This record gives sequence, C-alpha cells and structure tokens, in this order.
Amino acid sequence: MKKFSVISEKALSEGRTYLMEHESKQILAEYGLETTEAHLATSEGEAVKIADEIGYPVVLKVASAQIIHKSDQGGVKLNLKDEFSVREVFREIWQKFKNRGLLGVSVQKMAEPGIEVIVGVTKDETFGHVLMFGLGGIFVEVLKDVSFKSIPITEQDAEDMIKEIRGYPILKGYRGFSADIEAIKQLLITVSRIVEENPRIKEMDLNPVFVYPKGYKIVDARIILEKDESSKKEHIKSDLKRLFYPESVAVIGASNTPGKLGWNVFRNLLTHGFRGRLYPVNPNATEIQGVKAYKSIKEVPEPVDVAIVLVPAKQTPNVVRECCESGVKFIIVESAGFSELGDEGRALEMQMKTEIRKSGCRLVGPNCAGIINTHNGFVGSLGLLEELGKGNIGLIAQAGVYAAGFLWGLRKILDFGIIATIGNKLDINETDMLEAIGNDENIEVVCMYLEDVKGGKRFIEVARNIVKQKPIIVLKTGRTEEGKRAASTHTASLAGNDQIYSAIFKQVGIIRAKDNEHLFALAKAFSKQPLPKNNSVFVITYAGSLGVASADAISISGLKLVELPKEVKDEIRKLMPSYVGSFNPLDLTFDQNPEQVKNVIETVLKYPGVGSIILIMQTEKFSEYVDVLKSIDYKSVPIFAVVFGKEFVMEDVIRLERAGIPVYTTPEQAVEVIASMWGYKNRFKLSEDLGSYPAIKKAKGVSATY
Ligand code: ADP
Ligand code: MG
Repeated sequence: MKKFSVISEKALSEGRTYLMEHESKQILAEYGLETTEAHLATSEGEAVKIADEIGYPVVLKVASAQIIHKSDQGGVKLNLKDEFSVREVFREIWQKFKNRGLLGVSVQKMAEPGIEVIVGVTKDETFGHVLMFGLGGIFVEVLKDVSFKSIPITEQDAEDMIKEIRGYPILKGYRGFSADIEAIKQLLITVSRIVEENPRIKEMDLNPVFVYPKGYKIVDARIILEKDESSKKEHIKSDLKRLFYPESVAVIGASNTPGKLGWNVFRNLLTHGFRGRLYPVNPNATEIQGVKAYKSIKEVPEPVDVAIVLVPAKQTPNVVRECCESGVKFIIVESAGFSELGDEGRALEMQMKTEIRKSGCRLVGPNCAGIINTHNGFVGSLGLLEELGKGNIGLIAQAGVYAAGFLWGLRKILDFGIIATIGNKLDINETDMLEAIGNDENIEVVCMYLEDVKGGKRFIEVARNIVKQKPIIVLKTGRTEEGKRAASTHTASLAGNDQIYSAIFKQVGIIRAKDNEHLFALAKAFSKQPLPKNNSVFVITYAGSLGVASADAISISGLKLVELPKEVKDEIRKLMPSYVGSFNPLDLTFDQNPEQVKNVIETVLKYPGVGSIILIMQTEKFSEYVDVLKSIDYKSVPIFAVVFGKEFVMEDVIRLERAGIPVYTTPEQAVEVIASMWGYKNRFKLSEDLGSYPAIKKAKGVSATY
C-alpha cells in the first residue's frame, strides 16, 4: 500500500486531517522528492541515537497533531551541534508540549542554507486544486510574490510559473549564486502529480524549500486532507444545437400588449424573421400579434424544440412540467423571481429541476434574458431589438440586462452571431454554453461576461479545446469578493479568488478583459481583423506626440516598431513632407490627406515585415478618410484606426467600423489590442496560413445587412 494511503487512513481514523511534518515528508520521499526527513524520537536517548546516525548539526522540532505552526510556538530549534544540546533541547520541547498532544520530537539534519522558496497546493472552490510557487521570506510574506497554475501542470506550466514571479531574477542568479531551476521544475511537476494521484489532499505547504545551485531540499512540509471524499459534480451532456437553431418555438406567456415582456419576445421573433414554426401560448387569446395562439403547451400540435417561458415565477414549475410532458427539448425561462430572491424562489427552482431531470429536457435560466442567434433569426430576447447584422461573435452573459441593453448601441459597430444569457444557471451553465457556442461554425470569437464559474475543472477542459481555434475573451467581475479561506496553510491564505481566475485564464490562454470597454475593444479587433503577421507595428500619425505615445506603448507591451528596408523608405520619402525625418512612427503632419495615407499604406504593405498598422487620424478631417480607407487592399495585415475625440464624429466612426476597421480613441488602446492579438497567435503558434484563423476569411467584410 502506498505511504499516502497508510498515513492518511491513520490520520482520518484518529479524527484529524492534518498530516504532520514527519508524515508529509514520508509521502513526498516516496515520490522521489528530496527532503531533510524527520525521525521521531520519544526519549532523549533515542534523539541522540538518531542525531549520531544522521550526523550533526541537527534540528529538533515538536511533533504534535495540535501544533501546525511549529516555530511560532517555540517548537523548532536549529543548528544543534552536539549530544549535549540535543539532550537539553529535547527536554525543553518535551516539557513545553507534553500536554499538547505531543507525539515525540522530530530529529532532522540541518540543511545547508540556500535560496528559500515555497511550493504549495490549495483547493480553490471554483477550479479545484491549484499549485503555487514563490520565493520564501519577505517575498511571500510581504510582497505576496507568488504564481498559480491549475493542477495537473505541464512542463511548460512549471517553467512559466517559475518565470512569472517578480523575484525570478534572484533564482536566475545574482552575485554568483544561482538556483537549480530545472530541479524546481521537476519538484513542481512531481507535487502536481502527487495531488493528481491523491485528490484527497486539500492543501499542502512545502515551506520552506532550500534551493541550491544543484538540487534542493524540502525543509518543512505539511498536508491537509479533505474531511470527506468529494462527490463528483453532475454533468449532463447534451447536444445544444437545437437550442440555438430551433425549428419550432413556443412562447408561453406571449402577449398582445405592447410594453409587456411577452409582447417583446414574440415581436422580436416575428420582426427578425425567425425561420421556423412559431406557437404563441396564452390561455386568454386566440391569436397573438396575428399568429394563431394556443391555450397551453399541451395543445401545441408538435413537441417543439424550444419553449420560451414568460409566466410569473409561481406558475413556472407547473409550466415547466407541462413542457416536459409535451416533449419540449429546451426550455428557456426568462421570468425572474427565483433563487436570486431567496429561499422561496430556490424552492421553485428545485421543483423545476426535478421535472427536467425526470424527462431529460434541458433548461436555460431562470432569470435570463433569452437567446439570440442572428443566423436563423432566432431572437428570443426580452429587450425589443431592431435589425441585427449576422456576425461572427458569440457572447455568453450571465446578467440578462447586460445582454439586452448594450446591444441597442453596439449592434451598430459589432455583429453578433449568438448571444446567450444564462441567468441563474439552474441547469445549463456557462461551460455548456461555451462548449456549444465555441464549436458553432458561425462563431469565430467568443466573449464571456462572468460573475462566477460553476464546476471550474470542466470549464478549463472545454476552454482549452476551443481556444486553440478561436479566441476566448472574458470579462470577469466580482474581483474584490474575497472567498472564505482556511488559514491552516500559507498557500490557502495567499490564494485570492480573483488571482486564481487570472492565473487559470492565463494558463489556458483565455484573454481577460479589464472592463467592459476593453472587452469590446478586443471583440471588435478579433472579429473584424486578421491576426497580426508578426510583432512589428507600423505607425502613421499626424502629430509627433501621438507617435511618441504609440512608440512607448509598443515597447512596453513587448511589440516593436517595424524597421523598414531602404527601398521602402525611398519610396515613402516621395510621399512624405520633406521636413519629416522619422519613418516609424511616420509623421505625415497636419498637411496629410487621405490619398497620401493610402499610398503610404500600400507601399508599406509591399514589405512582408509589417505585422500590423496603426493609423492615427485627425478628428476634424476624419470623414474624408473613410471612403479612401475602405478601398485599401490591406492583404491580411490588420489595420487599427485611432481617432482622438471619436465620440464627436460617431457617424463616420460607425461607417469605418462597418467597413471592418476598428476605431480606437487612443494609440495605447490600439497597441494593447494588437499585443493581445499577437500574444494569442504566438501562444498557439497559429500559422501564417490564413486558413488557420477563420476571422481572416471574413476580415473587412462584416456581414452588414443594413
Ligand atoms: P514552521 O512550522 O514554523 O513552519 P519550520 O519547520 O518551517 O516550522 O521551521 C521554521 C524555520 O526554521 C524554517 O523556515 C527554516 O528557516 C528553519 N528550518 C527548519 N528546519 C530546518 C532544517 N532542517 N534545516 C535548516 N533550517 C531549518
Ligand atoms: Mg515552515
């Protein structure tokens, strides 16, 4: 039997979840990790005997299941050089702790000093086990300079998490001392494996680990076990295709009264040209908005693919049951008044869950704002919507209002494919939506607005698969909310919920938006433009200061300015004012005109070294540019426009956006977006081949239908 099983079973049978240092080190040693070991002595003589065997100097520590932080309690005595000190310290520890669950005194070798690091494990409530790495001492205590990855980790993850800490240069070497980074990597990978093989581990602290120019030693270790065997989260797999592409839809609670939600939803389906059979359900009407109505879902002549439910919360469980009995495949509950209001609402949700689990029907919501799929006119949203373009952006939003209200304006410059709101996620959650929408052939960019993630391990798996083909951009709010955390290990106390989200997004390759504006700045670029060809940027400006701002931002974000070859410069020289000396950023001054800008861009595009272009335009002349820019064949090199004060020339901004060129207010915003796009392409080694990223096919041609 493995050490872990023997030791953990013993501990649990004694009613404790804390594995002491000597126990933890035995488990680690079995996996080949280097520790200072820890041998229990229950008498002075025994302690001396062990010390003689392992050699001086030694360290004595209290071993008690009641003492978690040993040195805080005066239970660690270092650098004992002879038998006399061992005897003396043994007596001291024995005296001090004899009434506090003392098991014995552990004797171990005094380790050579090295660079102190901490390796830890904690179980995040969303994402499960995460591994932590950091430098010890003040770096972790004061600066909280640590990195996290979801377990299991890859070699690359191990390397990244070492390099991600700010103190990395200290490990790499200074004043002639360097740490064995390869050994740390192997240590991290092994700890990840130990936890993977023994999921009963809830937390672990290896604190400190001394790292040397060659090798390392784990000097202290503790493990905390999960009290109860964790139960597997339920996951029901269904194909959600028909939820987004239904052939028949019933609207239960459809209304003839303008202003009512039941009016809006049915109106949307009619005006957006839903290409399927529509059945309004309303016990008090014979027709709704000109369409024959039914008294109940049971009277509808076919089992519909989707039933949208808009009746008051109290009636909803009954309606859900009727839907299940009528063979409805998907139910979208847009009514509110459920768990978001408290226990009574939660009870209604439980009734609905019982019904759908009995029949196998799947449910979206409750308390959501519906689903929109522009590709088949399935616009079942609560908010009344005017015409929508058919686009390539998929949006998953937790909060309903978010998806409805903002669309009114954004539809003018962004074309969405599918928008799904998830509401209270009684059944279908964000991960189910991500899987379905991410794999939809009409979707090329996935945006998510999240407040929390349920069942984070599956989220990681699903996102990993999708992100290799399509970017996932997430705006996660609720950053400041601090989860309740146990403090028995250092690692657990350091793992703030938001930091874990960031770490995991990074590990998976998800792009995290800072705020709403950033989310749409990214969505615009990814959905309209091809990915940058490389990390070199060419900047055209009309004002030197904005050129300098661009150059700064480019350098800070790890991109670079293109160095043009002589022949290209010679050609450009003919196009630029004689008094301008710099080629990149190229300052065409206030005298610039659209034709000149177009000629410069076309000249520069002959040179394959250009990865992307930023074009900074004068607000007062901007309208003259739009038509000229539309006619540029920019050969899969993305172009980003910058117009200071763009909010004052929105008509023209909309025209240029609709022509496929995203417009930003500042050069810094444009650079940030380019850096994200390049980072994404580089991370997944998406090839130069245009086919590797589908948005390229649609670049410049957003499917504007109006
Ligand atoms: P605690 O339970 O307080 O974390 P530790 O076992 O980590 O106790 O001991 C406290 C400190 O003593 C460590 O941070 C380390 O600096 C030092 N120390 C502990 N064990 C050894 C050892 N075997 N060799 C050298 N230093 C040690
Ligand atoms: Mg310690």
